[in-house]
Amino acid sequence: MAASNRSSSDQLGSYQLSEEHQDFRAAVAEFAADQLAPHVDRWNADHELPMEAVKQMGHFGLFGLSGPEEYGGAGDFTSLCIAIEEIGRVDQSLGITLEAAVGLGANPLAQFGTEEQKQRWLPDLLAGHALAAFGLTEPESGSDALAMRTRATSDDDGWVINGSKQFITNSGTDITSLITVTARTGTRENGKPEISTLIVPGGTEGLEVGPSYNKLGWHASDTHPLSLSDVRVPHDHLLGARGKGYSQFLSILDDGRIAVAALALGCIRACRDLSVGYALERRAFGGPIGRKQAVAFKIADLDVMCHAAGLLVYTAASMRDRGAPAAELKRAASVAKLYATESAVTATRIATQVFGGYGFMEEYPIARFYRDAKALEIGEGTSEVQRLLIARGLGLPVE
Ligand SMILES: Cc1cc2nc3c(=O)[nH]c(=O)nc-3n(C[C@H](O)[C@H](O)[C@H](O)COP(=O)(O)OP(=O)(O)OC[C@H]3O[C@@H](n4cnc5c(N)ncnc54)[C@H](O)[C@@H]3O)c2cc1C
Repeated sequence: MAASNRSSSDQLGSYQLSEEHQDFRAAVAEFAADQLAPHVDRWNADHELPMEAVKQMGHFGLFGLSGPEEYGGAGDFTSLCIAIEEIGRVDQSLGITLEAAVGLGANPLAQFGTEEQKQRWLPDLLAGHALAAFGLTEPESGSDALAMRTRATSDDDGWVINGSKQFITNSGTDITSLITVTARTGTRENGKPEISTLIVPGGTEGLEVGPSYNKLGWHASDTHPLSLSDVRVPHDHLLGARGKGYSQFLSILDDGRIAVAALALGCIRACRDLSVGYALERRAFGGPIGRKQAVAFKIADLDVMCHAAGLLVYTAASMRDRGAPAAELKRAASVAKLYATESAVTATRIATQVFGGYGFMEEYPIARFYRDAKALEIGEGTSEVQRLLIARGLGLPVE
């Protein structure tokens, strides 16, 4: 079985990207096919983020696509989504690595950092010489982020942070330069926690990076638990204003959800393209299985998902690029994330079925996509959280 890793030309029919974006897509697709695709099986089998791939992706300019131009970025969120989609089409682990490095790692600094913080951290992050991570989730608080227990107190010398974080992407690599950590820094008059965000440089005393998780999928991505014991950072490591942590991470997650939806789109496209190739090649009862409606119609459904998810992703991305109002962007991000990620899970189930027994074998990329897809419905807000946000956006008093 040999389905092409190159980008097929038909997938753009239903949403209009500029010619420049289409050329960029073709270039990323070629890069992914030539430089990454031949190695992804080995990288996933190693259960480790391949730093050689990160280096190549950095060299190709992928980590700076949406970052501010003053620090070496290209300032275009749509390009980032295109890159995540194309990389994700070849390997979801590398796609989430890029998504988290930019959407969760560099983005908080780009959006809320002081001039000094940006100058210190962003150039290396945007060049791909360093990776940053975002520590929001904790062992006992995920969707209910305000229940976080990590605390930071301030004294004359700076901030002291104590607590733990869970499932943090890109937090344990040799080039992880910092982790932005959310922490309780007080209690508001209404009894709700005051949340602030602090920059913790990699290697800071008291910051312990736990062993890699043994994950169901995304085997070639880097994910760790973190413990923070009397971690000290100077006052100027506060990101933005004190008490703004909650609104900061909501905004970061809006961008992240569009980017995760782009990753899901890459997964759906891979499922469609691999299924078409296999259905033409695999013969049963005297001809290719693709002549059976039961097979062909399922693949037709995959094509519908590609087009629908593509419309949602690139509509939301263009809203982000033109600075759409926050409430509209939030809704578009949740709708895109919910539809694209749930479709990706369905798409992997359909594609595995098309492949029959071979779909269950690790030699076939479909098995990897099947394992990888599930995390899309969980990270950066579960499907339930997206439904909650969408329903609230409609004015429903849903809890
Ligand atoms: C591979 C991977 C990488 C990750 N990377 C990062 C990272 O880099 N940084 C980071 O901060 N986090 C990261 N996460 C964490 C991720 O964002 C959380 O797992 C996710 O937000 C869900 O939180 P939880 O796991 O605590 O589940 P919970 O919040 O405990 O949810 C459990 C279930 O209850 C449901 N539920 C919860 N509340 C409600 C509600 N109000 N209504 C309806 N249903 C509800 C959820 O939808 C879910 O089905 C990562 C997770 C994974 C798996």
